[in-house]
Amino acid sequence: MLKLNNVSTFYGQIRALDQVSLEVQPGEIIALIGANGAGKTTLLNTACGVINPRQGQVYFFDQLVSHLGAEKIVQLGLGHVPERRQVFATMSVMDNLLLGAYQRHDKQIKQDIEQAFELFPILQKRQKQAAGTMSGGEQQMLAIARGMMSRPKLLMLDEPSVGLAPLMVREIMRVIVDLRQRGTTILLVEQNARAALGVADRGYVIETGRIVLQGTAKELMADAGVQKAYLGKGDRLQLSRCNVADGRYACLDDPTIESCAVCPNRK
Ligand code: ATP
Repeated sequence: MLKLNNVSTFYGQIRALDQVSLEVQPGEIIALIGANGAGKTTLLNTACGVINPRQGQVYFFDQLVSHLGAEKIVQLGLGHVPERRQVFATMSVMDNLLLGAYQRHDKQIKQDIEQAFELFPILQKRQKQAAGTMSGGEQQMLAIARGMMSRPKLLMLDEPSVGLAPLMVREIMRVIVDLRQRGTTILLVEQNARAALGVADRGYVIETGRIVLQGTAKELMADAGVQKAYLGKGDRLQLSRCNVADGRYACLDDPTIESCAVCPNRK
């Protein structure tokens, strides 16, 4: 669906991506994890045409899109929710959602807004409120909902969990799983490796512009290097903290949690 082939991207003389190859198949949730400045945002911006790569190719549905430009790539079905939940602060929640559909001319926009409200009930309650007056988590939900309004086939999310409380991170991860169930493929960029690998099928680790590791989410979570660098020193995942019995979750940390998107034992 999305394929980066030996892509190198530069800012002047600075090489931010170094021969990056990455693939996203339809229906997958792919996590891209890495530290500050590793090149995660540059990779997303290169994929969606905001920046042109100096070397290599980007394909979307087998079409070479490397130098097509962001607007055309959005029309092909590649959605992008940028970092730091960039909502239009003085505009209402509803107007933010309508802006997400600005390139569309079909009659299903209203129906999609209803779907967004179904996915994020809080947005329905706050539809007339100025977006900038909502909490960080609510603004992130609006940013994702607005990204969905272009009806993307693949949605790229840049650090949706940053700065959010653990409960809100869980809620965002739940939404990501829900979006995939509704047919959207996801490329999820995160510093919060635990949350991202908790919901992803596969993942890539990027360090100083190079992909240094890739594998299934389970393989990456079990990797000693990933555990040390991204999951916290000595903070190994405690697979025994959760259980699936009779198709229901039983979290040993918090028995009131019935379904945990970050649970490595999730179905
Ligand atoms: P973070 O998690 O902090 O957002 P990141 O992994 O998304 O980091 P990028 O923002 O892609 O990393 O940056 C990769 C490298 O490119 C960094 O060294 C950064 O300083 C550099 N860089 C990013 N944007 C520019 C720019 N506009 N001009 C020059 N250098 C840039």
